Amino acid sequence: MDKAVASLRKLPSVDEVLRSDALAGALAQFGRSAAVAAVRAVLAEARKQGGAGDVTAFAADAAARLEAEAQPNLKPVFNLTGTVLHTNLGRALIAEAAIEAATVAMRNAVALEFDLGGGRRGERDELVRDLLCELTGAEDATIVNNNAAAVLLTLNTFAKGKDAIVSRGELIEIGGAFRMPDIMSRAGARLHEVGTTNRTHMKDYVGALSDKSGLILKVHTSNYRIEGFTKEVGARELAALAHEHKVPLVNDLGSGTLVDLTRFGLKHEPTVAEAVAEGADLVTFSGDKLLGGPQTGFIVGRKELIEKLNKNPMKRALRVDKIRLAMVEATLRLYRDPDSLAHKLPTYRLLARPLAEMQEVARRIVPALKDKLGDGYKVESVPCASQVGSGALPVESLPSLAVSISVNGRGGGRLLTALSNALRKLPVPVVGRIEKDALLFDLRCLENVDGFLTNLATLHPPEAA
Ligand SMILES: *Cc1c(COP(=O)(O)O)cnc(C)c1O
Repeated sequence: MDKAVASLRKLPSVDEVLRSDALAGALAQFGRSAAVAAVRAVLAEARKQGGAGDVTAFAADAAARLEAEAQPNLKPVFNLTGTVLHTNLGRALIAEAAIEAATVAMRNAVALEFDLGGGRRGERDELVRDLLCELTGAEDATIVNNNAAAVLLTLNTFAKGKDAIVSRGELIEIGGAFRMPDIMSRAGARLHEVGTTNRTHMKDYVGALSDKSGLILKVHTSNYRIEGFTKEVGARELAALAHEHKVPLVNDLGSGTLVDLTRFGLKHEPTVAEAVAEGADLVTFSGDKLLGGPQTGFIVGRKELIEKLNKNPMKRALRVDKIRLAMVEATLRLYRDPDSLAHKLPTYRLLARPLAEMQEVARRIVPALKDKLGDGYKVESVPCASQVGSGALPVESLPSLAVSISVNGRGGGRLLTALSNALRKLPVPVVGRIEKDALLFDLRCLENVDGFLTNLATLHPPEAA
């Protein structure tokens, strides 16, 4: 008999595997059609390899396959990178009050665009307008998908077919393909660059203004700093110039904060209220950077300009849904009591976390890691520096504490990479960074220590050769 035919004979039928006790639990949990697909896949795999096996083994394989497929792709991770607002790890953690508000909005019909007073159609921005005005001192406010959308909508509304004047020192690229010149062209605006990379003067702006000007844009250089022989024109002077020429001054603050960061022991970062007070007609900023809310973009400023933004058909394509609006409202409310922020808003809780707390975390996890990794590795706690992330306060770092793991003896690099990979494959992936022959885990964002230890118990550390 042909060898392939012989091995085919040895494979059980799909039905036989489905009836196996070893699959009963998974069958009940994941349903028949998913189970059939998993069994077929397992048998096809075995057929390709020319192998055989008994019914129970195939059933167990299929059950494991179903279990693995049921894992969400968007997984919680331990962010031990030391970057608190990590764009690739989802930026700000949401406050409990905002999570509750989102849950209510998800489960219920809500008065999203419905004026309960008059029983008429309302406007969704209305829900957060007063809070935004109160917290920023602006006349009016609107809310869109993210700050990139805020900038896009603003440029499209006021500079379509016109010049958007911006300093060469502020033509920023934010990670993930947000480049100011590209956004401008997509918005239909003509980029009119003025000045040089390090120095831009008043006369540069004056020379650029004409009847083709749509707006002057000031961009907070949030993710880098130009130092040395530099010159920029302040927002106050620019506002005066813009108003003289009857064009709006738009200030893209990027992160934008609603409170003075020095209260958390951080360096001062321009607040939205300051930008408004300096005379910007519109200020744009993110919801999920220092503000500590969900992904959104805000535009605050003069009433007649906000009205124009809201009339732009693009606004409809960039608007936010009820879930995020619920989160934004609850998050903004926390700012009415700034003293409670470090306690109630995870972003500030983490940024202001006392070193003593990180030391306490280290005291618990260093022995556990030593125990788990054995003699081949060296585990110790070391001082390190965390950063805010998402471009906020780019050159400032926060004194922090890390667990450093290095390898005793030769061949350390490869082993460390293997360990780092293994940690990223745990049920809750652990994400750190490799720095100078050591794997560093910044403890600033590690709050669930018990969860970390349970997770660690499942690790099989790679062994030195
Ligand atoms: C982050 C940032 C943006 C983009 O904001 P998103 O909320 O990420 O869309 C735009 N401008 C500046 C100056 C920024 O820092």
